[in-house]
Amino acid sequence: MNHFLTPYDIVKIKVFSRVGEIIYSTDHALIGEKNPDNRRLQIALSGLSSSTKQLKGEISDLRGEKHFDVDLVETYIPIKNAQGMVEGSFEIYQNVTQSSLESRHGVLESLFTLGTILALSFSLSFLVVRKATKELAQAQQLLHTMATLDPLTGLYNRGMITGAAEEETARTLRRRFAEESPPFSLVMIDIDKFKDINDKYGHPVGDMVIQEVAASIRSSLRGYDRAGRYGGEEFLVLLPDTNLDGATLLAERVRIAVEQLRIVSNEQSIAVTASFGVASILPDELDYQGALKRADEGLYIAKNEGRNRVGCTTSMLRASEMTPHADVVEKPFTRQG
Ligand code: GH3
Ligand code: MG
Ligand code: MG
Repeated sequence: MNHFLTPYDIVKIKVFSRVGEIIYSTDHALIGEKNPDNRRLQIALSGLSSSTKQLKGEISDLRGEKHFDVDLVETYIPIKNAQGMVEGSFEIYQNVTQSSLESRHGVLESLFTLGTILALSFSLSFLVVRKATKELAQAQQLLHTMATLDPLTGLYNRGMITGAAEEETARTLRRRFAEESPPFSLVMIDIDKFKDINDKYGHPVGDMVIQEVAASIRSSLRGYDRAGRYGGEEFLVLLPDTNLDGATLLAERVRIAVEQLRIVSNEQSIAVTASFGVASILPDELDYQGALKRADEGLYIAKNEGRNRVGCTTSMLRASEMTPHADVVEKPFTRQG
């Protein structure tokens, strides 16, 4: 900057933001200062350039050299964006002691040449910074997506769904202390005999099946339910404000949706089913780990009982939640259907 400005006898430059804050100065100590009473700055921020000449007893130039009895021209040049809106202003101090001996016209001409050069370079950097900021925002969005979503299914990844389970548990506990006792249930889902699908149709088709099942799960949920891919072909669903009965009904709805999927690959129709384990957080529990374990046990029961069904353990059943339902596994802790 010094190298560029010295031939013009520039001794100081400030760049003001739209609100009159110094966002750059060759004198770095001034950056961040505001000058609300500067009348000429206000005029510049309204879009008009101006110059005044004054005699200064002593100034320091950009190299720190002192000069005495200096004719100083102070110029304000508004900075405008592509739409012509004022984005800020330059304030330029030029030592014109030598130039004063030449024509005043020449001084102003050189100042405006300089102003134009500065304005152009500023606009260019503005565009570069704006582009970089946009790219940074896109990269951040991508990183956020990669950190939260499973790339195959678009559902939450395992870290996010377990984090969400913790959040939901904390919310449940807060409301419990307020004596509202909201229920909170989990559903574990595992695709049946998925190895066979991979073996028979190939891994890419297996991936497609996982995607279709994920889409079925998502479309069966309410807005505030959340689903995540917990493992290879396993999913975890969080059902806030839902008791075991409601969770079982929802699991049953997803079960039917998966069973009715018509997945076709190479003109072959692929039948797919899944098994489900449901569980609710009990009134005396302080985290969701117990419910997760019971949902897993429910899933195990469903698999053992022949798959394509919803299982749960009785350790958490309450009389009010005992709704009979076909395809809900009832052994060894059965509900009568
Ligand atoms: P079960 O009914 O008992 O669940 O039988 P299963 O064959 O589904 O058994 P298991 O759950 O143990 O098998 C899961 C298989 O899923 C094993 C693994 O090769 C496959 N798998 C895991 N992740 C992926 C994936 O991202 N894509 C594909 N295509 N296969 C996967
Ligand atoms: Mg599995
Ligand atoms: Mg499986």
